[in-house]
Amino acid sequence: MKPTLVLVGRPNVGKSTLFNRLTRSRDALVADIPGLTRDRRYGHGRIGDRPYLVMDTGGLEPVASTGIMHAMAQQSLQAIDEADKALFIVDARQGITAQDKIIAEQLRKKDRNILLVVNKAEGMVDDVITAEFFELGLGKPHAISALHGDHVNELVALALADF
Ligand code: GDP
Ligand code: MG
Repeated sequence: MKPTLVLVGRPNVGKSTLFNRLTRSRDALVADIPGLTRDRRYGHGRIGDRPYLVMDTGGLEPVASTGIMHAMAQQSLQAIDEADKALFIVDARQGITAQDKIIAEQLRKKDRNILLVVNKAEGMVDDVITAEFFELGLGKPHAISALHGDHVNELVALALADF
């Protein structure tokens, strides 16, 4: 069985951009319009000779304007249960938002493997990002740039290390 990684987080943090990089596909729509990706998408990734599956939960972005349903749809929480490891993506440029806090609270309740990923971190100082995002209570933040590829391989290697 290939291990499965799921990408979760509020709209526009770069989930589909990371999905595309991991799967080298254009399957996931990348856009400035939050919630454009409609369906849950699975793709095949490979690091070295190790294959894995990656799931983009972009299509699970909710339409309700408040609460958990706004921050992350219920189906995203379900997708996490189906995956071996969840990558919770936040945005280095925006900092911690109210939606991030709501999602983090849901994730902390889950007895699942969660990695906190701070995307859009190109050109920023890792220590500053780490200090800021520790506050989410999900352990060490991992700074990456999905767009430029910075630290993406290290992240995947870490995510798959237990499998
Ligand atoms: P999603 O809604 O979480 O799937 O986010 P998308 O992948 O659609 O990306 C939303 C926007 O953020 C797009 O304009 C991307 O080009 C941009 N973006 C994604 N990753 C990065 C990154 O690493 N750095 C920067 N600067 N922008 C990024
Ligand atoms: Mg998307």
